[in-house]
Amino acid sequence: MKIESVEAINLAFEYPPDERFRYGGGICTHRLTTLIHVHTDSGLTGIGSIYTHPALAYLIVRDQLAPLLQGEDPTEIESLWEKMYGLTLWYGRKGVAMTTLGGIDTALWDLRGKIEGKPVWQLLGGERQTCPAYASGLLWRDPEELAEEAAGYIEQGYRRVKMRLARGEAYDTGAVRAVRQAIGENNDIMVDASMRYKPELAKRMGKFFEEQQVFWYEEPFAPNNIDAYANLRQQINVPIAGGENEFGLQGFREMIRAGALDIVQPDTSRCGGISETWKVARMAQRNGLGVATHSWSDAVAIVANAHVVSAIPNGITVEIDQMTNPFIEELLVEPLQIQGGQLQLSRVPGLGIELNMSVVDRYRILDPLNIPDGVYSDMMFGKENFPEPFTYHEIDN
Ligand SMILES: [Mg+2]
Repeated sequence: MKIESVEAINLAFEYPPDERFRYGGGICTHRLTTLIHVHTDSGLTGIGSIYTHPALAYLIVRDQLAPLLQGEDPTEIESLWEKMYGLTLWYGRKGVAMTTLGGIDTALWDLRGKIEGKPVWQLLGGERQTCPAYASGLLWRDPEELAEEAAGYIEQGYRRVKMRLARGEAYDTGAVRAVRQAIGENNDIMVDASMRYKPELAKRMGKFFEEQQVFWYEEPFAPNNIDAYANLRQQINVPIAGGENEFGLQGFREMIRAGALDIVQPDTSRCGGISETWKVARMAQRNGLGVATHSWSDAVAIVANAHVVSAIPNGITVEIDQMTNPFIEELLVEPLQIQGGQLQLSRVPGLGIELNMSVVDRYRILDPLNIPDGVYSDMMFGKENFPEPFTYHEIDN
């Protein structure tokens, strides 16, 4: 079997003005994602997805990775990964190149499963056909609205909810108290500081999160501030999570060696595909750390992450975006099945998913290099909505 072509398909969805939402990153106007198809001469196609700058990813696929892979045996995932990594090394290693080759890697895992007649979780040695899932939402809203929203997730069967903070100390503490009161002691709260705390506040909030029995404390700082993570971890007794903005085994190794994290949060659609996410998960396992993958882009990514989390003993949970997102709600022929806070994985070979191509066509950006005007930062924000960026080295220990 040979690879015939590799395709990147950019999708965009624009929120109606009254559905735009706000958090530490700004006011979100659009959602974007990129699907990857690896077509073979056997008629089988592997599916992956990535979550990065769509036009840059499109160029990397079209001009570099697709020509490299044409004619290759798609089952040789490990050597193809190395080839892609080697070719992009001079501008890659982290960021868009790593993300893009990872989308192809995930599609190759989908193909491997289809060829061998096994689901990816089984190829990885897993035995669980379900994966714990948590409700991720609770953005910057009033505490009463947050309470209602959080209670709704528990009613749907979720046992864990994640909220976004870093709006100010008074808001952050009030918001956590409101959600705790709404969901009770027996359900878990995770908090996400979206990289926007400074060390002193991070410590004070950490003590408060301890009192509130927060399940994890996510991204207090930007990932480059590794020492600040490690120092904070020494000072508080609540698990620190991070990694959605980290790439590759190399990046995670640095954070793990520094003692920066209790829970790693790689994302197959960002950090280098299923292969690299699996390596990160294994390294976390060897170091006694948990794995709770990040997902915020589309259903393909959620499923790919869930195959990894379900297959590794230290896998904690996958993230389910609760904002309106057609790439999660409409993209799959069989929508995600989540019951009692458990995402069901199928026994269908590969990732076990089929794309609804009419939905793909509805949101497809026809000229993939001509993406909507705006500011890109993992979602799309209007220029006027983008907040002051944090400085690169804001933290000096
Ligand atoms: Mg986060």
